[in-house]
Amino acid sequence: MEYCPFYSVRPLLPIYPEPENPSPAQKRWILVSGNSVFFFKKAKSGTVIMQEPLPCGLIAGDPVYLGIRDEIVYYAGKIEDNAILPDGWELSPVRELSGQVLDTDMAIAAYAVRILDFDRSHSFCGSCGAKTRPLTTERARICTECSRIVYPRISPAIIVLIKKGEEILLARSPRFPSDFFSILAGFNEPGENLEQTVHREVGEEVGITVRNLRYFGSEPWPFPDSLMVGFVADYAGGEIQIDNQEIIEAGWFTRDNLPSHPKNASISGLLIEAWIQREI
Ligand SMILES: [Zn+2]
Repeated sequence: MEYCPFYSVRPLLPIYPEPENPSPAQKRWILVSGNSVFFFKKAKSGTVIMQEPLPCGLIAGDPVYLGIRDEIVYYAGKIEDNAILPDGWELSPVRELSGQVLDTDMAIAAYAVRILDFDRSHSFCGSCGAKTRPLTTERARICTECSRIVYPRISPAIIVLIKKGEEILLARSPRFPSDFFSILAGFNEPGENLEQTVHREVGEEVGITVRNLRYFGSEPWPFPDSLMVGFVADYAGGEIQIDNQEIIEAGWFTRDNLPSHPKNASISGLLIEAWIQREI
């Protein structure tokens, strides 16, 4: 079975070169301010996609080409700080759009935020300080002086469901509500492969060892730039010893005594659900 976490919805193909002069009817817009986007709320499914020509003075700078879907060309625009929002539209952080817009729309919105942030934070070369410009052949920027090319940063991280007989290990981060638990996760370090990251993170956070790692699936997590790589592992040995930094509570749970945990279509929720359903 192939698991497709929510943020793996890939509705846009960033095809290069960017299409020249599409007709107004072929264009759609996502308007972005920081980590928020323009959002039109409706009772059932709202939208973040604007079809109409943009209100005058709303966008700062040039629109940024995102990609194509069904012959429609999508662009992102940065909203002027003092812009007056059109009737019915509001600003919403992308993360809070879950369930309020189509998954495809949310994925486009997350991508728009990410690409505008990349353009803003890499507008000058990290090597020589000169201005950069977008490449026209792929998603990257090139320095106008030294020709250094930079790509959007992606930070790989692992997430692992650990099984021990009929139980799994769940843990609570200090960032979680007091009764909320999830599976372990952590960032890859330079020089590590992903399996080594799993062993190190599990050791650091709860002090146990694991074996028999199996790949589950992966998920881009655009808050801001992670790629979550999901594994299932079996408990190998050791007693739980929490680090009291990343993890402040951890334990083994059976299917009939699970605490509150991720239930959405994120990869953590899918891993736990697959275990509940005895698929992994
Ligand atoms: Zn340079």
